[in-house]
Amino acid sequence: MNRIGWSFLVRDCFLLLLLAVTPALAPADETAPARDPKQPINEGYTAKIKKYTTAPYFNSPLVDYLPASKNVPAPDAVLGDVAGAPGILPYAEDVYKYMRLLEKASPRVKVYSIGATEEGREMIAVAVSSEENLKHLDENRARLAKLADPRTIKLDDAEADRLVSQATPIYYITGTIHSPETGAPTALMELAYRLAVDESPYIREIRDGVITLITPVVEVDGRDRMVDIYRWHLAHPKEFYPPLIYWGKYVAHDNNRDAMGVTLKLTENVLNTYVGWKAQVLHDLHESVPYLYDNTAGDGPFNAWVDPILTDEWEMIGWRNVADMTKFGMPGVFTHGVFDTWSPGYLMFIAAMHNGISRLYETFGNGGADTEERTLDPADYSRTWWRQNPPFPKTLWSQRDNNNYEQTGLLTSLHFFNENKRLLLKNFYLKSKRSISKPTEEGPAAYVLPGDDPRLELQTELLQVLQRQHVEISRATLPFTVAFPPKKAKKSSKKEDAKDAKEKEKDAEPATREFPAGSFVIRMDQPYSRIADALLDHQYWSPDDPQKTPYDDTGWTFGELFNVKVFRVTDPKVLEAAMERVNEVKPAGGVQGEGSIFAINNNAEPALATLRYKLRDASMEAAEEPFEAGGKKFNRGSLIVRGVRRSDFDRAANEAGLHATALSAALSVRTHPVRAARVALVHTWLSTQTEGWWRLAIDNLKIPYDYISTQTVGRNDDLNAKYDVILFPPVGFNSSSTTIINGTATGWGNPLPWKNTTETPNLVGKNDSTDDMRPGLGWEGVAHLQSFVAKGGVLVTATDTSRFALSIGLADSVSVGTAQKMNIVGSVVSARLVDAASPIAYGYDEILSVYCDNGPIFSLSSIAGGRGFRRLGGHSTSRPTGRGTVDDPDFTVGRPGAEAPEEPTVELWEYPPVSDEQKRNGYRVIPPATRARVILRYADSKDLLISGLVEGGDEIAQHPAVLDVPAGKGHVVLFSINPVYRGETRGTYSLVLNTILNFDSLDAGRKLAEK
Ligand SMILES: [Zn+2]
Repeated sequence: MNRIGWSFLVRDCFLLLLLAVTPALAPADETAPARDPKQPINEGYTAKIKKYTTAPYFNSPLVDYLPASKNVPAPDAVLGDVAGAPGILPYAEDVYKYMRLLEKASPRVKVYSIGATEEGREMIAVAVSSEENLKHLDENRARLAKLADPRTIKLDDAEADRLVSQATPIYYITGTIHSPETGAPTALMELAYRLAVDESPYIREIRDGVITLITPVVEVDGRDRMVDIYRWHLAHPKEFYPPLIYWGKYVAHDNNRDAMGVTLKLTENVLNTYVGWKAQVLHDLHESVPYLYDNTAGDGPFNAWVDPILTDEWEMIGWRNVADMTKFGMPGVFTHGVFDTWSPGYLMFIAAMHNGISRLYETFGNGGADTEERTLDPADYSRTWWRQNPPFPKTLWSQRDNNNYEQTGLLTSLHFFNENKRLLLKNFYLKSKRSISKPTEEGPAAYVLPGDDPRLELQTELLQVLQRQHVEISRATLPFTVAFPPKKAKKSSKKEDAKDAKEKEKDAEPATREFPAGSFVIRMDQPYSRIADALLDHQYWSPDDPQKTPYDDTGWTFGELFNVKVFRVTDPKVLEAAMERVNEVKPAGGVQGEGSIFAINNNAEPALATLRYKLRDASMEAAEEPFEAGGKKFNRGSLIVRGVRRSDFDRAANEAGLHATALSAALSVRTHPVRAARVALVHTWLSTQTEGWWRLAIDNLKIPYDYISTQTVGRNDDLNAKYDVILFPPVGFNSSSTTIINGTATGWGNPLPWKNTTETPNLVGKNDSTDDMRPGLGWEGVAHLQSFVAKGGVLVTATDTSRFALSIGLADSVSVGTAQKMNIVGSVVSARLVDAASPIAYGYDEILSVYCDNGPIFSLSSIAGGRGFRRLGGHSTSRPTGRGTVDDPDFTVGRPGAEAPEEPTVELWEYPPVSDEQKRNGYRVIPPATRARVILRYADSKDLLISGLVEGGDEIAQHPAVLDVPAGKGHVVLFSINPVYRGETRGTYSLVLNTILNFDSLDAGRKLAEK
C-alpha cells in the first residue's frame, strides 16, 4: 500500500534493466529441490497442506510436504492445525511458545529476546542453523564483525578474502510489521521447523551454509490486536468486523517509515539485532498484491546514497528469485513494479543503509485466515514485460497459499544466497570498505554540528538519532578550521542588480570557517557513514523525473527539520582535527550565576515545554521583548522562573538539556504568565496514524493530556471546563470535513465496537475505546468546538483539520485555494517569519525549514464572505491603448485629464486594505482585531525548495503557513504544514508547544492594521 493506493501504471519503458546473469556465479551442479526419500514425511500434516492449498500450482516441491521428526514438534503442536490453516491466527505469544518448543527439542534452534514494544510485549529473534554453526556463533560473529568494519583489518583485501572463506553469513527475516498482513508468523514457524528438521540436500545446504535469523512478529502489539479482531469476526461470522484502527500504540502503516528517525521500539529492536548480528540481509515480509512481488528490484529513482553494488544485488537476487519460482510453475511472481527505492524510511532499508542487502516481499493476503474467492484488478493480472506469468483474474485464495509462496520464496532465496555467499560476503566487506573510503571517494569528509549552535538540546536529539543508527560521533577537543568550496552561482536569466552581483562574487571564493572546541564531528571514514550521509544531506527530486508518483516522502534533511546547524564538509583536513569519540550523547544543561530568579533563553526548543510541566508549582513568565541580563542576551519569549528551589531547578534543567542563568534583580521587561495548560488531543475513529505521531512526540516530552475522540467532543457541551487547548492533529488521507462530522455510514450494518471483550482482550491497550466506531464528531460536536473557542479555548489544527476548521466557519477571514499544478510530495520547504512578536513564533529565526505535503493554500480576505474575490498574483501594470508612449498618461479629447489613484499593492501574506468603496455600509468588513495574524508564510517561489520535490510551488509560495485566528474570546491556530511528523520535524514542534504554553496570551505583541 502506498500514498496513492496500489495500482500498477503501465508505462513506456525506455530503460532495459541490465540483468545480472547468474549462471556464471552458480556452480553447474546445482542441487535440485526435492525431498530426501529416506526421510519419512509427516503424513497427516502433509495431507492438510494439500487440502488447504487451493490449487496445485500454488505450491512447490519445497513445501508441499512436511518431513517427520520423532522429537521435534511440528507447528500443529501449538496451532492445533498446520501453518496457514483456515480459521487459525496465532497470537505472538503462541508463535513464541512454538519457537521455544523448537529450541528445546532441537540443537539447531536458538531463541533470543531482542527487546520490548511500547506496550511491554516481547520481541524475539530465532536463529536456525546447523548445530555446528550455532555452537560457534561467537567466533563467527567476530569474523563478520571484521568484515563489517574493515578498519579492524586495515582494509586488507587478502585478509578479507580469508575471512570470507571462513564466515557463515546471516540472513535476517522479519514478519508481520503490518498487522493486517497476517500470514508471515505461521509461515515462519513452519520455515523454522523445515530448516531444523528437513534432511533433503537442498535444505541441508542452507542449514549448513547460512544462519537464518527470524523475527516472526515485528509489530507485536498490532499482531495481538489483529488476532483479537479476527477472533471477533469468527465469533460473529455474519457481522461486519471493526477495521484495525490501531496497530502499535502510536502508528499503523507508518511503522514501516520509521527507519530514519528510529522513534519506535520495533525499529530500534530490529536495527540493534541486524547490526548486532552483523547480518548481510534484512528481508521484510508484507502482503498486498498477488501473488508474490519481490520489490527488491523496484522502480526508480533509487536512493542516491546506496552503493551501486547493492542495486546490482537487488536485481541479481530478485530476478533469480522470480526464475526459481517460475520453474516450479508458480504463477504471479515478479520483481519489477511501482515501488521506488528513494526514501530510506522502510524497515528493510536498515540493511541498505548499513552495508547489507534490503529485501521485501509483497505476497497476497486475505487479512485474516479465511479462504476466499478474490477478484483481481485488471492491473494486477495483466501480462507485462516484467510479469510474463501473471496471476489469474479470479482466485480462490487461502492463508496456506500465502504461506506456500512465502516459504518457497524464502527457501529459494536462502539457497541462492548460500550458493553465492562468498560473492555476497565479499560484497558486504566491499560495501563496508567503500563506506569507510567515503571522504577520499565521493565525499563528504564529515558533517560538523557546531558547538555554538543556539539549539544544543535539539542538536543532542539529532545526535541521538544518529547514535541509534549506530553512527560513530566525535567531539572536537580544540577549535579547528576547514575550507568550503566556492558556491556555484545560481543561474538567472534576469538582470541582476549590483548588490546581487557583488554577493555572487563573494560566494565564488572559497571560504573558511572555524568551529569551536566541543563541536560534534560525524566522520565519514566509518562503516555506517552511509546512513549519516543520507539523513544529513539534501535531497533533490526532479519535477521531470519519469517517476510521477513518488511512493513516499521525497525530502527529509534532518538538520533542516530539527532546526539545527549542520555543515557538510568536503575538506579532508576536518579529519585531522583534534577530537575524541563520544560514547553516549546526553542532554546537558543547568543553571549558572547567583540569584533566585532563573532565566532560560528561548530558542524554540521543545524541552522548554517539558520543563514547564515538570516544575508545575514554579511561577513562569515569558518575556514579550528581547532583553539583556546577567551579561547575556535573551530572545523574545525567554522564560523567567521563580518560586523553585535552585537544586530542583538545576536538576530539571539538566535533564531537559536547557541552560539557565540565575539572576538576583527583577527584570523590567514586559512579561505574561506561562501556565501549564490543560490539553486534550482529539482523534477520529477514521484513522489514528497521523495523530499518533503527535501523541508520540507529546508523550516523549512528558506533557500530560487527555486523549479523546470526536465522539467524546460530541458528548461534552462544556469543553472549557476541562481544557484550555484542544489539539486536533491531521486525520490523514485528506479526510473531508463531511467524513470528520459524519464518520462512517450508520444507516445500515452493525455497530463496530472497539473495546475489550472476551474475544478481544488486547484491543484497547492504553488507547481509546467505543461501542461503535462509526459515528463521527456530529453537528453537536461542531457546536461544542465552536463554543469552546468562543468561550476562550484554543483549537490547534493542521492540514486536513485546518480545512475542517475553516469549513465550520471558525475563521471567516481565511479561505483555502485549489491547487492546479502544485505537487509537493512530502518535502522540506522554506518558510519565513512574518510576526516575530507572536508567542507562537518565540525562539524562531527569520527563516525556518518545514515539512509540507501539498498543504492547504491559505488566502486572506478583509471582507467576510468575500473569498474568491481576492486578486491573486501581481496587479496589472499595463496602461490601456491610447496616446503617447507606454509611460505617458492617456487623454480624453475635450476634457481635462484625471489621474487615477494608485492601487495599493499588498503581499500574499498580508490583508488587502479595505477600500473606500468597501467601507460604504461596510457591515461585511472584518475588524482588524478579528482578522488572522500571520505567524509564518511560505518562502518566495525561488527559495521554496529545501529538499525533495517542489513542482508548481508558486501556487503556495508566499501564502500563510501558520495562522493565529482570533475567534470570540479564543483562538484557532491553523497550520498548512504538519509541524509534528514521524519524529523528524522536531524543529517545528515548538510552534505547537509555544501555542500551548502561551494559550491565554496569544495576542501578546500584536499590532493591528489601521483599517
Ligand atoms: Zn505492508
